[in-house]
Amino acid sequence: YSSVELTKHYLERIARLDPRLNSFVTVAADSALVAAERADQMLKSGEAGPLTGIPIAHKDIFCTQGIKTSCGSRMLDNFVAPYDATVVEKLAAAGAVVLGKTNMDEFAMGSSNETSFYGPVKNPWDETKVPGGSSGGSAAAVAARLCAVATGTDTGGSIRQPAALCGITGIKPTYGRCSRWGMIAFASSLDQAGVMARSAADAAFLLDEMAGFDSRDSTSANVPVPDYVDALDDGIKGLKIGLPKEYFGDGLDSRVAAVIQDAIKEYERLGAEIVEISLPNSPLSVPVYYVVAPAECSSNLARFDGVRYGHRCENPEDLEDLYKRSRAEGFGAEVQRRIMIGAYVLSAGYYDAYYLKAQKIRHLIADDFKRAFEQVDVIMGPTSPTTAFPIGDKMDDPVSMYLNDIYTIATNLAGLPGMSIPVAPVDGMPVGLQIIGNYFDEARLLNVAHQFQ
Ligand code: GLN
Repeated sequence: YSSVELTKHYLERIARLDPRLNSFVTVAADSALVAAERADQMLKSGEAGPLTGIPIAHKDIFCTQGIKTSCGSRMLDNFVAPYDATVVEKLAAAGAVVLGKTNMDEFAMGSSNETSFYGPVKNPWDETKVPGGSSGGSAAAVAARLCAVATGTDTGGSIRQPAALCGITGIKPTYGRCSRWGMIAFASSLDQAGVMARSAADAAFLLDEMAGFDSRDSTSANVPVPDYVDALDDGIKGLKIGLPKEYFGDGLDSRVAAVIQDAIKEYERLGAEIVEISLPNSPLSVPVYYVVAPAECSSNLARFDGVRYGHRCENPEDLEDLYKRSRAEGFGAEVQRRIMIGAYVLSAGYYDAYYLKAQKIRHLIADDFKRAFEQVDVIMGPTSPTTAFPIGDKMDDPVSMYLNDIYTIATNLAGLPGMSIPVAPVDGMPVGLQIIGNYFDEARLLNVAHQFQ
């Protein structure tokens, strides 16, 4: 197929199916076709790389020059960035064709894609259920074959959890592996860009182009990037897999536990060795995250003041009224809740009691992983405690929503890479196996995932 044929194929599917799924905020059909024609010329002249002409979608958190970047918020409903994010720029340089921007929880805060200003995304396997979040649009679009592959971001599970709930493969690389330049910040010490794909092999092709040092991001890691595709076919005989006992306890649906155990048995058949491990501080990861992430978000989102970007209220009386009403109108309920929690835990009287204490426990959580990786090569467990839940089910109960990320958040606090791959479904709904690796060991994660697929 030519890139123009592929691009038209996906655009036709988006036009037909996305009115039901709501996975795209913006479809960029015209610019996609122009890019596809250019890709076809490159294919003809022999200058093409592996991604030339491949139709992709970007989570609407990545700045794209000339295409709206909303971050799922009314605040940025009118925002068109004057530049491309590094990740967007790199994939464009590799010849990928951008079909559009995918729906997401507002400012990436959520686990169900229900906090988006543009309405919820539906799970393609059951449209009464959530796709997970916050990269729910990318997950649903890949699962429904509305694009070949998509970008996502993961602050506490937002690539892995929606990948699990939609039955696709998602990888959150090591903190600093992919540039965050031009990616709208939520919690800067946790945010990381990554890939949502149909398979580990597809993810490897994309990550090969996305990863690498960027001097424009001060947290970008200057560590050589191996060839992820090259490593896919390595054998995994003798691989040591750690199973943390804390990831198989109370709160895990027993049918999810059963299919995860079956997948781990398959790894044993492939020659891996299973080691029982413990991550004793992992039960503290959700409370620690809900101090650290809101603290950073309250500071990052201060820039949306009605002056420099985005929504501005009508007829402000004075500067204070402009700030207050622009932010009250522009931000939804969950974002406002996080800003208030963040401002509270950072305030002078409470800083030591909450923020400082959370930072200390964050170190203990990272140390748990450090000890575990002295014994094992990868850690496995469920990505999410249940399959996709009904739309509307948890919106009135933020704590139960937050607990959905119980198995994914610790890796962000430690900065480690994590992945989710589909295993056997439960009642027709997808389940994800999580694979956590040591720092910068993405090649091994992709290899281990590929051997299962
Ligand atoms: N669900 C988590 C939250 O609401 C994580 C979101 C994310 O990874 N962006 O903050």
